[in-house]
Amino acid sequence: MPGMNLTKREAAERFATISNARYAVALDLAATGRTFRSDTTIEFDATAGASTFVEAAWADIDLVELNGEPIDAALHEDGRIPLENLQEHNTLRVAGDFGYRNDGQGIHRFVDPADGEVYLYSQFAANDTRAAFACFDQPDIKGEFTFTVTVPDHWVVISNSPTPEPEALEDGRARWSFAPTVPIPSYGAAVVAGPYSFHEGTLHGQEGDIPARVYGRPSLEQHFDGDRVLEDTQAGLELYERVFQTPYPYEKYDQIYVPQYNLGAMENIGCVTISEDRLLFRGRATAAELEFRTVVVLHELAHMWFGNLVTMKWWDDLWLNESFAEFIGTWAAAEVSEWKDAWVTFAADRKSVAYVQDQLPTTHAIVTEVPDTEATVSAFDMITYAKGASALKQLAQFVGEDAFFGGVASYLRRYRHGNATLAEFLAEVEAAAGRPLGDWAEVWLETPGVTTLRPILATDDAGVVTRLAVAEDVPAEHPVNRPHGIEIAGYTLGEGTFARTWTVPTTIDGGLTEVPEAVGEARPALLLANDRDLTYAKLHLDEQSLANLEAHIAEVDDAMAQATVLDALWHMVRDGSLPAQRYIDAVLALAPRLLNSATAESHLELMVVTLRRYLAPEHVAKVTEAAAERLWHALGEAEPGSDIQLQLLKGYAQVAATTEQALRLRALVEGTAEVSGLEVDSDLTWDLLGGLAAAGGIDLDEVDHYASQDVSAAGQRRAAGVRAAVATAEAKQAAWDALVRPAEGPAINAVQFETAAGLARAIDPALLAPLVDDLLGSLRDYYDANAGFVGVRVARLVVPVNLVGRVDGLAAKLEEWLAANADAPSVLRKVVVEALDHVRRAQIAQTTSRMAAAG
Ligand SMILES: [Zn+2]
Repeated sequence: MPGMNLTKREAAERFATISNARYAVALDLAATGRTFRSDTTIEFDATAGASTFVEAAWADIDLVELNGEPIDAALHEDGRIPLENLQEHNTLRVAGDFGYRNDGQGIHRFVDPADGEVYLYSQFAANDTRAAFACFDQPDIKGEFTFTVTVPDHWVVISNSPTPEPEALEDGRARWSFAPTVPIPSYGAAVVAGPYSFHEGTLHGQEGDIPARVYGRPSLEQHFDGDRVLEDTQAGLELYERVFQTPYPYEKYDQIYVPQYNLGAMENIGCVTISEDRLLFRGRATAAELEFRTVVVLHELAHMWFGNLVTMKWWDDLWLNESFAEFIGTWAAAEVSEWKDAWVTFAADRKSVAYVQDQLPTTHAIVTEVPDTEATVSAFDMITYAKGASALKQLAQFVGEDAFFGGVASYLRRYRHGNATLAEFLAEVEAAAGRPLGDWAEVWLETPGVTTLRPILATDDAGVVTRLAVAEDVPAEHPVNRPHGIEIAGYTLGEGTFARTWTVPTTIDGGLTEVPEAVGEARPALLLANDRDLTYAKLHLDEQSLANLEAHIAEVDDAMAQATVLDALWHMVRDGSLPAQRYIDAVLALAPRLLNSATAESHLELMVVTLRRYLAPEHVAKVTEAAAERLWHALGEAEPGSDIQLQLLKGYAQVAATTEQALRLRALVEGTAEVSGLEVDSDLTWDLLGGLAAAGGIDLDEVDHYASQDVSAAGQRRAAGVRAAVATAEAKQAAWDALVRPAEGPAINAVQFETAAGLARAIDPALLAPLVDDLLGSLRDYYDANAGFVGVRVARLVVPVNLVGRVDGLAAKLEEWLAANADAPSVLRKVVVEALDHVRRAQIAQTTSRMAAAG
């Protein structure tokens, strides 16, 4: 359906044709059923005599009128209605019945299993505004939106403009009439409706008070944590108004927890939607989860200026939105929130993922060509977010923070309520910095790939450094050196800790950079060439540092150094240069002493990936069992009630393998045993049940029993995941059937995500071997029925990469799939191309693991 997939060229043509769009959107959300009535009048200016089209998708259109003349509604095809012979000033009316969605896009309809109440929210980015009303759905045709929404009279409606008083109608309905917005991009419009409740709040801005509520479902009201969310928001607001030199640009700021959300959050103008599943905590949250919520809150708030007030012209410059918000959100968290080591979290979590993605054959430059809206699905990746944020961090360091924010401020002033491109952003920073940035942008923003920093160290007989140089190794496919502002540090070992004894700030420029400042220093036990993680590059450890590190890793006691060394070891495993078991050992040794919660969460997860993918399969059973024992022992030693204690238990649930190990989980779930200081609440119960299922300690009937005790949406969703994790071939087949052969149309997005993750989960990945041909053979059918965000996320989970070494010719099967599916959607092909690359890497890593075990 080419009409459903708007191309960049079509968008540019339409931008040249029309302007000044003003929308009056009437939505009737009061009726029950699978559709809602949408009636939109758009006034806009155009080149007289020109033709264009308006979009309306997932809709049965029955009325189209242009300048008072009816247009045959049958012309509505593939999500478009042609508009011919435009005048200078036009009035277009389009009405019809639009479908509610259950994939988290358009207008998502959630029915609470606990009380039958309906909760609706919109998710229009990247281009599903057209699934709620007729519009010109592209970021550079900004519009003024006036929403009128009719709902049952016990509901509330939240949108971009301040919330009005409802007007009572007959039949138990009410109408909410919102004032017009300022010009905003169509993807940033929003409507949230249902019997939501709220935590009242006010933000204090430079130009006065800003109404700010935190909304969510009433049954979860005690968990909104509204004061803390608003405290983070207020701190961010003060910081942003100051450094952007621009007051908050809108009239109010609501944040709404919404169920079954695809993303962490979305920056709708003044109406931010936040994932209830991920960021509203029914039970005890880890510090990593609480920090993530703070960073998300600060990230979305930054978008009100960057992305909303000034919007990218086309999705090519998505990074202008996301890299910036990611950088600022992390920076702000470190500056003004309780999470002072937010950059440690960034390094351990999102940036490490960016290194992985940046080495895939599908990698792209931060500034990338997005030819059409279909491709936007995969543009929201960690290259765009984390590599882009790292690049901006380098830019701020390169030109100085004052010049950087000075440039940002003038950019916001110049393009206020409009759109801009990379060149226009850089021009403002260049002017503020007084230096050209073209070369910098070319190597950092316009060239893909991650380079590796490799120290070259020589010492004399007394152990004094006689030469230090840093080589920057570039990948063969993208041979480009970049300037890096870094700090090189030497750590000495003594009294049970690695102490940083010297630091040399330097700028790496070119393939080999001499660092004469280090000459004369004592040879360190551990040399880190990217100390404090100031740049974006993989890190190589010299042999002596590696040996010292592995022998004493538990003695690394700086949070950033801990994240840096574990990340270096993880990437060495992926590169085939370190046996998987040595990274696993390092994680197990350091985990109990990790200072940063996200580092613990990331590396316990990556350890599980390593066990199942990079370790030679013949060693998996033994190493997994031993890993579980060490985690159980560490759990017993952990301080009662500490964050690491909770992380260790969650880690244990991921690797518990034997009957005895499973029984410990069962005892915790049933309350016949306890871990001192740790309450097993409902979410933790599901975590433990997942572990029990994967270890073969629970059957489907028993999962049903637990599901009947937690009838919340979260309970139903988590139960689907645990069912799919049950360690039998039948349960795995049933999970895949539920995804690809659903009895009544595709399942709800959130249930699909849990099911796919549970399906992929196996202590011994060989459990999935009987399914491999069905998984690959019906992948395309699955995707076609679930195209877009949900389809891509599930496909990534179910393509059975971990069968590497367990199924003969897995790589050949993936190659055959690619050959047979040359015409598949580009985003699905990308998933399989990446899976093939993961498999090839894993083959090498398994060989490294096998040789080390033999040797
Ligand atoms: Zn964002």
